[in-house]
Amino acid sequence: MQRLYEEVKRNDIQILENWHVLDLIHKDGICYGLIAFNKDHNKIKAFFSRIVILATGPAGHIYSNTTNSTNCTGDGVAIAYRAGAYLKDMEFVQFHPTSLIGSNILITERARSAGAYLFNKNGERFMTEYAPFSLELAPRDIVSRSIINEINDGFGLKDSKYDDYIELSFTHLSDSVLNEKLSDVKDMASSLLNIDIKKTPLKIIPAQHYMMGGILINVNCETSIQNLYSAGECSCLSVHGANRLGGNSLIECLVFGKIAGEQISHYDKNTKVDINSIDFDKYIGRPAEHYIEDVENLLNNIDLEYVSNSCTKLQSLMTSNVGILRTNELLNKALSELSIIKTQLLSNSSNNPNNFEYSVFHYFELLNMLDVAEAIVSSSLLREESRGSHFRLDFPLRNDKDWLSHVLVQLSNSNLKTSLEPVIINDIFPDSRTY
Ligand SMILES: Cc1cc2nc3c(=O)[nH]c(=O)nc-3n(C[C@H](O)[C@H](O)[C@H](O)COP(=O)(O)OP(=O)(O)OC[C@H]3O[C@@H](n4cnc5c(N)ncnc54)[C@H](O)[C@@H]3O)c2cc1C
Repeated sequence: MQRLYEEVKRNDIQILENWHVLDLIHKDGICYGLIAFNKDHNKIKAFFSRIVILATGPAGHIYSNTTNSTNCTGDGVAIAYRAGAYLKDMEFVQFHPTSLIGSNILITERARSAGAYLFNKNGERFMTEYAPFSLELAPRDIVSRSIINEINDGFGLKDSKYDDYIELSFTHLSDSVLNEKLSDVKDMASSLLNIDIKKTPLKIIPAQHYMMGGILINVNCETSIQNLYSAGECSCLSVHGANRLGGNSLIECLVFGKIAGEQISHYDKNTKVDINSIDFDKYIGRPAEHYIEDVENLLNNIDLEYVSNSCTKLQSLMTSNVGILRTNELLNKALSELSIIKTQLLSNSSNNPNNFEYSVFHYFELLNMLDVAEAIVSSSLLREESRGSHFRLDFPLRNDKDWLSHVLVQLSNSNLKTSLEPVIINDIFPDSRTY
């Protein structure tokens, strides 16, 4: 971060803090800037620009159990989608097998590679059944599914406050392993939970961790909208396929962040956009003052308690119906319930006098979360097979014959449209997965 900060200073780059991007200014597949909301003053402003790079990060907050922070609401993905950009691989949502119940703090894979075991309520090391060779070190999707299977089959342990869980046990490990390899886990358990992991196992469940899908980009970080680029977790070049390997996600930030920067460096930063020559109304589809008026009216008529309850509804729906195990029935139900949540949210206009002004942007975040959720559900419904992190109980096998394709999602005439794009394999063909 220090290096980044130095570069920002050296290049005299202006940072605008507390501006929340709402939408892109665009017309006929070309991006001309963005509209943002100032969280301190509740004001909306249009920013015209030759280039926009969306690097808004993950969308994990659409699930109740996630290792992501609460601001991971998929804004960039939803913003690009509403402007007509293609989204790709949205059905591939990674769940990390070991997060603490309650807080969803991630317990590093290092714990299992140092020798920690997973136990069910009978004290059985159940991974021997699901992945006899790799055991606890099988890929994230397999360990997560195994844990959920154990819990669903009644082999989870009961907690008085939270849902059933599985134990991650370190009690058989030597002091030197705990101190040399897992001192951070040991310290965290001791300070946060008042637990000595040498004596007491951790209570864990899987939690949403990473989105393999996102805004479709090419190797130059260009999206399907002219002048709109993307990098980081909100983008998707499919570098991770259907299932990211641990430790690899920073490719999207470091490698593609650099590429995006290089790509746009040929634009002369001294040539300012002539704002007066741009007809703002044309690019947002209605007169500018109406847009701003509408949003300001909206801000005065939001019941944030209602927004918060709708958000919780969305999160539990996504967790129960669009999580680790999916079926046609669950996904269809999710799709219709999402539509109800959205319709009710858009028509709700009861002001709550207890609103805390600063947090009205949660309304916009929720609308983004609903768009992202809809894209995930629609892609998951279309992919009638199981691959990587996407597991369909009604289509449990991988089907390379019919499904070596990416699912693309696009908003077209106000409707979500899905399409398929073949996976191009030049080198290594997919093999069977045995662990
Ligand atoms: C617990 C945990 C552990 C991880 N460990 C690893 C690891 O060991 N190795 C690895 O490779 N990866 C790891 N990852 C994944 C990796 O951290 C993320 O993929 C990566 O940080 C995403 O970076 P990003 O820049 O795309 O998004 P972020 O770092 O989330 O940055 C996005 C930025 O955009 C801003 N933003 C969002 N919406 C808006 C809006 N509407 N308007 C204005 N600004 C907005 C946000 O405030 C934020 O500052 C881990 C993730 C988690 C959650």
